[in-house]
Amino acid sequence: MSYELNDKIINLVPYEPISGDFRIRLDANECPFGYNDEFMAMVDRAVRNVNFNRYPDPVCRKLREAFASFYEIDSKNVTVGNGSDELIFLIESAFLKKGDTMLVASPDFSMYEFYSSISEVGCVRYLKNTELNIDIDELIDIVNSENISLVLFSNPCNPTGQGVSKSDCKKLLKSVNALVVLDEAYMDFWSEDESFIKDVDSYDNLIVFRTASKAMGSAALRLGFAVANERIARAISAVKSPYNVNSISQEIGSELYKNKEFLKNRTKTIVQNTKLLYNELLQLSERVEDFYPYPTKTNFVFIRTDKSSEIWQYLKDNSIAVRLMGKNLRITAGTEYEVKEVISCIKKYYNL
Ligand code: PMP
Repeated sequence: MSYELNDKIINLVPYEPISGDFRIRLDANECPFGYNDEFMAMVDRAVRNVNFNRYPDPVCRKLREAFASFYEIDSKNVTVGNGSDELIFLIESAFLKKGDTMLVASPDFSMYEFYSSISEVGCVRYLKNTELNIDIDELIDIVNSENISLVLFSNPCNPTGQGVSKSDCKKLLKSVNALVVLDEAYMDFWSEDESFIKDVDSYDNLIVFRTASKAMGSAALRLGFAVANERIARAISAVKSPYNVNSISQEIGSELYKNKEFLKNRTKTIVQNTKLLYNELLQLSERVEDFYPYPTKTNFVFIRTDKSSEIWQYLKDNSIAVRLMGKNLRITAGTEYEVKEVISCIKKYYNL
């Protein structure tokens, strides 16, 4: 007897984030701040509220209400996932049928394309221009000429840090029959004016993703949110596994989102640190060859340089983790101290 793994999974390797202990971690676009004492007291109270012998609330009622109130939307539009990662997989596998084709932009968050291969749906790649932007008319043409059923991109984009304007997204939504998924994981750092979170009832083909993992500083909770009109929200709820979000994360998440002013202020600090990081990198780029940091609407900076591997290794040797992506580096803005440290280390690499 013999059992063979199928072709689509036989050569896959488990996802492995950078391993080892680092003095500074700027590789995963996380929030640099942990929970303070006040938050930890809230966590204690929240955990005590959990009925450990009971299954979690399948519709995450309290959490959806807290999230909806934070963004001033209606909770009926919200579905919660075990991180947006789960929602991406869910939408691609359930909202597409065998033989359908989706479109991703490149470069973009790599999981979009990865899940398409697991879901056995076609995937067309739209290559961004040299400034790493999307030409929306070009994209619309491809969606319509290739009969695309689902368009999915991050806005603003991980890893490039660029954003597609609200007017361009509107044009896309109105010009295609495809379902459009705007992954707004980093929108808290850009502007709520660019977000579609409040507009889902105006479109019959829109899903917006948000996450607690970035500006909300709660990657450990694994909370992702899909916001859509009621018809789509109901369909997402119907296809998700019933108890996908554990009770501890639901309890903590519902308290977390009540701290609006605190979270908004902390996000402002991260945006300031990102500006500091970008400005320092820009100044550095004027003193060395072949080092180009892109402006950013997120909490990280994307850099193009032929020296990416060498710099990545040098930083690693100095116990600083950043993300290496071919001829690019992606550096998350940490605390002000961490930003200064990474800049000083890159300067040392260049003997400046
Ligand atoms: N979307 C984008 C664009 C991301 O960068 C990430 C995480 N790096 C995710 C989704 C996944 O977020 P979550 O932690 O909610 O699964």
